[in-house]
Amino acid sequence: MIWYPYTQMKGMKSPYKITGAEGVCLYTNGRKLIDSVSSWWSAIHGYNHPEMNEAIISQVRRFSHIMLGGLTHDPAERLAEKLGTILPGGLNHCFFSDSGSVAVEVALKMALQYFVNRGETQRTMTLSLEHSYHGDTFRAMEAGDDEDYHFILKACGKNTSIIHIPTNIADLDGAFRDYGGRLNCMIVEPLLQCAGGMRIYGLDFLRRARELCDKYGVLLVFDEVATGFGRTGNRFAADLVQPDILILGKALTGGYIGHAVTVANGRVFAGFYDDDQNHAFMHGPTFMGNALACTAALKSIEIFERDNYLARVKRIEEISRDYLGDFTARGVREVRIIGGCVCIECGNPEVTRGFQDFAYDRGVFSRPFLKYIYTMPPYVISEGDLVSILRVMKGWFQR
Ligand SMILES: *Cc1c(COP(=O)(O)O)cnc(C)c1O
Repeated sequence: MIWYPYTQMKGMKSPYKITGAEGVCLYTNGRKLIDSVSSWWSAIHGYNHPEMNEAIISQVRRFSHIMLGGLTHDPAERLAEKLGTILPGGLNHCFFSDSGSVAVEVALKMALQYFVNRGETQRTMTLSLEHSYHGDTFRAMEAGDDEDYHFILKACGKNTSIIHIPTNIADLDGAFRDYGGRLNCMIVEPLLQCAGGMRIYGLDFLRRARELCDKYGVLLVFDEVATGFGRTGNRFAADLVQPDILILGKALTGGYIGHAVTVANGRVFAGFYDDDQNHAFMHGPTFMGNALACTAALKSIEIFERDNYLARVKRIEEISRDYLGDFTARGVREVRIIGGCVCIECGNPEVTRGFQDFAYDRGVFSRPFLKYIYTMPPYVISEGDLVSILRVMKGWFQR
């Protein structure tokens, strides 16, 4: 049997069984559902995309996976080169891994070792944000801050080397004043904190974080696993403020195959590049640089650029604002919209109960969590389908 995620298996509502998927639609039980979630925000091209399919099929015929230990291959080399050209700020040293959580672990370990290699062994602390989510592996959980995902950590006691602050500048200044000399990195989901409740915060906070990181010699890490590739309306938040380490996942492969990358700038890489063998980065996921995943990522980026996806995201944002921008109703606490993300925060979790079935009956797949009803649709969605999703979200409060 399958042990399903984030769910009490006892009494679990049976999941919809998907028998096909095409464009923005999932097919189940003789019905067609518009997917408002993009398979956890990754399927930006929708499903069964002919060009994506073709790219992967032709790579399968060559080879599917070759390890990167002592070997290399075209798909991984080309993806690293491509990322190096499109990413800003000298981010061009790509460490591949199989999932976003692992890529976060890689970044945190890289930041720590960067200073250990320099003999700055007192820099063992990490600065992070309240309500952040960085994945479900252990250190990623500790860097995250969400009771609902990570309450199990309490059993081990709080990790005192990770500090969480709210997204305001006074607390940011305070944290650097108190801990600046002991931090190795600050890790953030830039502009939009996703799994922690689709919380939006300002560029001024990120700019100040960059300044303080420079002043105190701390590495700035952007976890753009969710925000990367256009979700906030920016290609990457890193286009606006440059981190030292950038993490990409989810949409990296267009939702086809799990893969992620931790990209370091030249300064970070130079901290490992040495005659001393002990300064090497000792990490290597079995499936890092998987050839099918790299091929999918290359094709995904090609389509993203060629078909001007940023304009599509802008259009999604405009339509969403027109439709839900000033929406208020009983049970609604706040509506938040940024790029291709629309979230209705409800007064409490009770308000969302039953919404999934309500949406299903109206031809939309939705997966609300806690007190949030949201959509992050595939970027290829038509205006009509997008309005269908938004109408269902609104309709729930107008029953
Ligand atoms: C989803 C997510 C992760 C974890 O990625 P996985 O591929 O699920 O391990 C990490 N960081 C952020 C910001 C995410 O949204």
